[in-house]
Amino acid sequence: MPVQLLKIKGESETLLPSHLQKENLQDLQEGCDHTNKYIQGIVTLSYPLTKLGDGTDFFKIVLQDSDNLSSKINSINVLIYGKMAEECARITRHGETFIVAGFKVIKLPTAKEDGRHGCHLEVSEEAGSTIYICTKPGTTAASETASVSVAPKYVYTPLNHLKDGTIVNLYGVVKFFKPPYISKGTDYCSVVTLVDPSDVKLTCSLFSGNLDALPKIYKVGDIVRFHRIKIREYNGQMQGITSGGFASLTFDGTVGAPVVPRTSSKVYTFMDEEQKTVEELRIWAASNISISGPAAKLSGVQPMQFFDLTCQLVGKAKVDGSSFLLKVWDGTRCPYPTWKVPVEAKDLEGDKVLLHQLRDLVVDILVYDNHVQLAESLKIGSFLRIYSIHTKQASADNEDVSHIEFHLHGGTCYGRGIGALPESNPDVKELKAFLESVHLADSQNMESMCSMDMDSTFGNVTDLELHLQRCQQLSVTVLTDHQDLTNTELKTIINSTAPQQYRIRAKLRAYKPQKLHQSVKLHCSRCNSLQEVPDRDDFDFILRGSAGTASNPELHNTSWYESVTWTTQDQKQREITIHFVKRDEMLQNPEDTLLMIEGGTLKEIWKLSRRFKCVIPVRSTEDDLELLDLSAPFLLQGNVKYYGCKQCSTPKPVKNLSSLAAEQQTSWEPTEIAQVLGIELLQYVFIMKFTLVDETGAINAYLFDYEKFFQIPASEILTNNFLQQKMQMTMNTLCPPGRKLGDLPWLECFIRSYNVRDAMKNQVYYQIFDTTVAEDVV
Ligand SMILES: [Zn+2]
Repeated sequence: MPVQLLKIKGESETLLPSHLQKENLQDLQEGCDHTNKYIQGIVTLSYPLTKLGDGTDFFKIVLQDSDNLSSKINSINVLIYGKMAEECARITRHGETFIVAGFKVIKLPTAKEDGRHGCHLEVSEEAGSTIYICTKPGTTAASETASVSVAPKYVYTPLNHLKDGTIVNLYGVVKFFKPPYISKGTDYCSVVTLVDPSDVKLTCSLFSGNLDALPKIYKVGDIVRFHRIKIREYNGQMQGITSGGFASLTFDGTVGAPVVPRTSSKVYTFMDEEQKTVEELRIWAASNISISGPAAKLSGVQPMQFFDLTCQLVGKAKVDGSSFLLKVWDGTRCPYPTWKVPVEAKDLEGDKVLLHQLRDLVVDILVYDNHVQLAESLKIGSFLRIYSIHTKQASADNEDVSHIEFHLHGGTCYGRGIGALPESNPDVKELKAFLESVHLADSQNMESMCSMDMDSTFGNVTDLELHLQRCQQLSVTVLTDHQDLTNTELKTIINSTAPQQYRIRAKLRAYKPQKLHQSVKLHCSRCNSLQEVPDRDDFDFILRGSAGTASNPELHNTSWYESVTWTTQDQKQREITIHFVKRDEMLQNPEDTLLMIEGGTLKEIWKLSRRFKCVIPVRSTEDDLELLDLSAPFLLQGNVKYYGCKQCSTPKPVKNLSSLAAEQQTSWEPTEIAQVLGIELLQYVFIMKFTLVDETGAINAYLFDYEKFFQIPASEILTNNFLQQKMQMTMNTLCPPGRKLGDLPWLECFIRSYNVRDAMKNQVYYQIFDTTVAEDVV
């Protein structure tokens, strides 16, 4: 019961919770910690109970500090919200002693009335406030129950103790979120996945008609406190959903940042011990959650990526019913030509002069579908974080160079959305300071131009150009050997006979394939053949084919492996057998274990290969296990599938593996496994064609690289998005799309020429060797 009636027998303090201390009105200030303080006064004035616009009850009283009547400030307004307002209105009488704890101090915008405090107090049950009314004996009509209780203290439930059907308070670290979007109807919806040190995950679906009532989460790693969230079980997992009275606070998750809650709520409690909770969660999150680095700047964007952008809105326009244009900037310049979405001048909202001034820095972002309504409501000049913008490379018919388009696609996958950031956000503060410095630079240039100080102006320009030239002269590649060779012009190379080796300095005008994953092939170093990497369908087909072969029980449980067989629960009732290879006659930990599987599906094999060191798909014959067709990988290790050359391999019985198993020190190297199984291991390799040019000519040179050039293993690129991005970025640096030849960086390379003869003619080819991409390029 948040409103307590105290029968005054002696000093009221003796009846109050011991942790509360009296605060003098003179000492009361906005922004100080009042957690364990109370204000006491006599009710000198009360206003009728009213309802606010949103239906909340509201009651206002004036308290006078009876102990300090002579002091300059001796009264204060108390604003009471919600259920508490109604209760207080019912039982409060003039002249009674009124004590309030758990209040929020709000500074008044206007000049204060005579003797009235420059702040008012806001109290509500939601904020955890407690009010004690000390009735004079015989004056109250209220019941006899004069009880004392401590201010409501919230209990927070760890995520591993949630129970279906309960309403709880909790703390969590944001692992994933979708910024609020308009869901069906008019409600805003936000989805948040939380984790805490119990290592349990909770996904919450939060709905509200009021955007401000949803948590103000800006990034993964933020910490939230939810009050009164309803827990329900769905498909064996706990989920959170907003219930009546839901309230939230959000904190920056950065270790060491000020613990200031983000909330639109006028009243809330925040205890000292909760500050500790936030700080502990920050420390836990720092080592347990991967928090993406700072969001990308426009100067760092690449084609074909998704990124989060913190920016300022400078223009907006309706494009059509399902898309909306946002013109934003972050003070940096996108390195690529960017598209301009055609809109009628009359439809464009924003300062035309500013838009013109910033024309080289502003980019157009087209937002679609469910994001349109929110985009329309954004104010020009506001700061935004736009999540999961897609950069698309495209070229119009009438352009020779491609440009970059920015799209915020419909839907909310991957947390796609738009969030407005308050000016108090640290990222916004930083951005604002940066944007101001950009303005400053402009105006300084203007000044120096106007002052006719041509020398210094030219001085600056020359310095800048020199710097740019130096940058361009630095090679983006590094030579790893043969430092004694000097550069040869391409014309000289073209006119010479092969084979020879050269050092060259050239620019990369074009390369093939443009789709980098197509550059990965399998190479047999014995027969020198190249082949495409089989796709998953090939593997799936072979697995389905061999699933018809029943496992031979006579081959189960030998001296060097243990076998387990079971039947799947699905309709097909497949039989799966796994043989766990023992090492030195012992079973090993999963991460050290090689296993052979019969009858598994693609998905099952992939799962096993994540968990176990090596997986070898096999099938039974009459007297041994054998490998499947060599179009399938003969071995899976983590993400990498190893293949054998069909021409050069002569598969041996699988029992040959027992020799490796008998070794104490075996680490299951693919090369060793291939050798004992009679497999000629195919190696993943990048094959690319580079068109290199200098002032004298152009040649096509082949790159044949296992991992040296890009410093990325070709074997891992197909299954690793991060490496794919890294490689794309490298290529964008070596050969930036949309640049003129003069602006391309220099590459220093070694190339060797060689002859390829066929019946008709002799042709000279060139291959890049002993060259690697400079470390600072990627
Ligand atoms: Zn071969």
